[in-house]
Amino acid sequence: MTALDRAGRVVIVGTGVAGATAAQGLRGGGFTGTITLVGDEAEAPYRRPVLSKDLLAGKTDIVRAGLKPVAYWAEQHIDLRVGETVIDIDPSARTVALGDGGVLGYDALVLATGGRPRMLPGVSSPRVHHLRRHADVPALRGRLREGSSLLVIGGGLIGSEVASTARELGCAVTVLEAADRPLARLVPAPVGAALAGLHREAGVDLHTGVALAGVEAGPDTVTAIAVDGRRWRADAAVVAIGTVPNTELGARAGAAIDNGIVVDELLRTTVDGVFAIGDVASVPNTVLGGRYRGEHWNTAQDHGTAVARSLLGAGSPFDVVPWAWSNQFGRGIQVAGWPEADDELLVRGSIDERDFTALCRRDGRIVGAITMGRPKDTRTARMLIGRGGVVAAEALLDPHTDLAALAS
Ligand SMILES: Cc1cc2nc3c(=O)[nH]c(=O)nc-3n(C[C@H](O)[C@H](O)[C@H](O)COP(=O)(O)OP(=O)(O)OC[C@H]3O[C@@H](n4cnc5c(N)ncnc54)[C@H](O)[C@@H]3O)c2cc1C
Repeated sequence: MTALDRAGRVVIVGTGVAGATAAQGLRGGGFTGTITLVGDEAEAPYRRPVLSKDLLAGKTDIVRAGLKPVAYWAEQHIDLRVGETVIDIDPSARTVALGDGGVLGYDALVLATGGRPRMLPGVSSPRVHHLRRHADVPALRGRLREGSSLLVIGGGLIGSEVASTARELGCAVTVLEAADRPLARLVPAPVGAALAGLHREAGVDLHTGVALAGVEAGPDTVTAIAVDGRRWRADAAVVAIGTVPNTELGARAGAAIDNGIVVDELLRTTVDGVFAIGDVASVPNTVLGGRYRGEHWNTAQDHGTAVARSLLGAGSPFDVVPWAWSNQFGRGIQVAGWPEADDELLVRGSIDERDFTALCRRDGRIVGAITMGRPKDTRTARMLIGRGGVVAAEALLDPHTDLAALAS
């Protein structure tokens, strides 16, 4: 597809940060045509990460969590359609079909459909919760009363944050994690061990290495049963065992799917005129090779900015090193790049004292980093990762080495 006519028609599916940022980027980049931003949630675009943090804790509300004041979208002549589902795409006619029977024509279509929670098969009960949307919050929040008990199934980012918020609200919390540590997909073992310490100090009953046989929900309680026969019972449960990308629309349009909708470095799918961004997109990894699908706020936002440029004919290969943050038990944790469990870990500071920068080295290259209490180092580590060079361990471990100078 050549650059979009500046007075053309763009349809964006998904009102998450990726879709909303794409719409803003188009207007900011001088696009004067029609932008239709369609989302099946009832709310105007909002900051999803607060769902497990301040919003669940009751410290903020959906208005304050908005990405922009609600009036912004109309002021920018962005046709925001909430509570509307796109159910089909006809890429040859360049139209999308809406759940209410409407049809929208497009010159360019951006799929920013995000993901949904992975479900435990056969488990359905009002006492078993998931957390992805604002609409999921009120029922879960209603369970988190002082003295009530909560089972958190999955010790990843969302499970750990829900556990943290539930403890803050005075609930008895049990976390069941299949791996040998929390956040196992994101951080290597020593850091995971430190996070396990954080959970336990906060009074969480954390069980790792749990192979679940099933979850039984009764009228008043939920029971998780392990294959070794152990059982845990609580008033309610949250299942947080990962995210499934919403690739179905892309597949209907005929786009290639491979753990997400496959895009090239300009975020174009394999179907002419159709782009994919955010949690649903599988993008080329221009630093390490291969592909990856981020599930992080900043990556989705960066995709939104990049696709707008791409549409306007000013795109450049997407090469941003991803990073994410998490707040748990009063601590801020940041993860950059693509760390893996087997990476060699070079630690500046002290993991035990929870003040550290842990750089992950693979084949002599820095490929990832985890920081706690050192947000500035995250930025520097991303530069080191993006540069892709070989850095001597001695230099990295020397506390006198200025990381920023090394990165530049
Ligand atoms: C509870 C929670 C806490 C998080 N905390 C953090 C954090 O601390 N740090 C961090 O980096 N990341 C965090 N994340 C992840 C971050 O929020 C996501 O990476 C980001 O929201 C992805 O944005 P997106 O726009 O790609 O997708 P989404 O935000 O998922 O938005 C996609 C939208 O598309 C809609 N949609 C899907 N299909 C259709 C359709 N057919 N028609 C119409 N609309 C459709 C969806 O309903 C949704 O509204 C958290 C996520 C959750 C759920």
